[in-house]
Amino acid sequence: MTDEKTTASSTSDKHKQRMQKLKDKVDARIDNATEERGLLIVITGNGKGKSTSGFGTVARAVGHGLNAAVAQFIKGTWACGERKLLENAGVKFSVMGTGFTWNTQDKEKDITAAKQVWLKCKELLSDPTLDLVLLDEMTYMLSYKYLDLDEVIDTLNNRPKHQHVIITGRACHRAIIDLADTVSEIQSIKHAFDSGIKAQKGIDW
Ligand code: ATP
Ligand code: MG
Repeated sequence: MTDEKTTASSTSDKHKQRMQKLKDKVDARIDNATEERGLLIVITGNGKGKSTSGFGTVARAVGHGLNAAVAQFIKGTWACGERKLLENAGVKFSVMGTGFTWNTQDKEKDITAAKQVWLKCKELLSDPTLDLVLLDEMTYMLSYKYLDLDEVIDTLNNRPKHQHVIITGRACHRAIIDLADTVSEIQSIKHAFDSGIKAQKGIDW
């Protein structure tokens, strides 16, 4: 065997050994993960991708024939594209009736609107036929204290055992992060908006 061939085969042996070790580790973790129950997932942080991640998971669940519902705590200027698609697939949406604070500039009106959506959320979070509930932009309702934190925690704790819940929004309250099973924080490295590019259909809503 030439030196070159010997080096190539020992590199390939080392790669194989490394991959086997990795496989053993992954297999052990798969063996350890035996519990199956509804998860509380939080997608927070300042970067773009929180709501799209939530809606992506709803699409994933619906694709498997699971039942999902969405509550949106902020009514954007435009109806998001996901709503049009997912309503056609049988996903029920409950959307906050007013705009957001800097649009309405009426705190009492916002609180009333938030509480109305929350009433709907309580129905969703006690409905055993729902496998997944997305609470889009809910974090703000807790940071502005529009909703009662203890009541939200109680409702999440008492939901049907198999039901998954996804909460999105910036600056998620510590108590919700502590309660959650999976938490991802999306960091903004850069965003087109900062370079003066406007929000675009199909990408931003
Ligand atoms: P998306 O709905 O695209 O997943 P998001 O849910 O992570 O975004 P939000 O904080 O809910 O982000 O903001 C909603 C809107 O603001 C979207 O149109 C999104 O493109 C835009 N946006 C998100 N992150 C940023 C950012 N860092 N700077 C400016 N605009 C942003
Ligand atoms: Mg969002």
